[in-house]
Amino acid sequence: MDLGLHHKVIIVTGGTKGIGGAISKAIAAEGGIAVFIARSNEEGISLQNEMNTCNQEAFFIQADLTKQGNCEKVVAMAVEKYGRIDGLVNNAGRNDNVGLEMGTIDRFTTSLNENLLHYYEMAHYCLPELKKTKGSILNISSKVALTGQGGTSGYAAAKGAQLALTREWATELLPFGIRVNAILPAEVMTPLYRNWLHSFKDPIKKQREIEQNIPLGKRMTTAEEIASLAVFLISEKSAHTTGQFLSPDGGYVHLDRSIT
Ligand code: NAP
Repeated sequence: MDLGLHHKVIIVTGGTKGIGGAISKAIAAEGGIAVFIARSNEEGISLQNEMNTCNQEAFFIQADLTKQGNCEKVVAMAVEKYGRIDGLVNNAGRNDNVGLEMGTIDRFTTSLNENLLHYYEMAHYCLPELKKTKGSILNISSKVALTGQGGTSGYAAAKGAQLALTREWATELLPFGIRVNAILPAEVMTPLYRNWLHSFKDPIKKQREIEQNIPLGKRMTTAEEIASLAVFLISEKSAHTTGQFLSPDGGYVHLDRSIT
């Protein structure tokens, strides 16, 4: 299936590795132009070179999106280079374990800054361009928004708010034909996830325990599987899908695990 992403300019926050990296690569593989943002210059340039070597157009912008003014700046850079924006994938973030009992107001606020505020800011600054192209927005949220996790109030609040904003923006942007959807990953092996696993005494045992609870295939979801859904949702092939929360997680959240 041709998704019709040829020459479409899609911004991916946190697009150098993990889920965002897989989405950037999937956009480029579909003939789209991935404009991806992250803090590490080395990883960004390396991915950009990798794509360019395969004759794929890609543009890496080094920026920390939590710093004031950077969201506006990166959007302006993308528009200056390509003259348009067809899609935004809000993805950058991390589960930072700012709990209720052991957290502080300062750490909770920092967590919201790292996980939520740039989702709004990026959408706000992309909007004038998305109105011209009837583009689309995809928010990468988390199963934690629906299930909770315990000990991670800041992240859970941010991920839940991303779902609320998905519906809110889908409604506000109906008159412009701009669609807004959310993906809720559950267990995906990424650099972030690997680091978390290694906080356990026996990471392999912990991984096996988690996998046993995933109904379909007793395995984790791959970043590429998330990316396949992401490019579909960004593309015109999903032209009548908006305000949706999708869980590509092998049934982890929605199936009755006691019968599998
Ligand atoms: P990851 O492996 O750590 O990748 C995160 C990406 O975001 C990297 O490219 C990182 O690059 C960039 N980034 C982080 N903070 C940034 C900032 N302030 N400014 C610019 N770039 C930033 O994480 P992941 O596991 O792929 O997670 C991606 C998204 O999926 C997150 O929103 C996460 O909450 C969600 N999610 C993941 C899972 C999972 O199982 N992995 C489950 C549920 C939800 P730099 O470090 O170079 O900036």
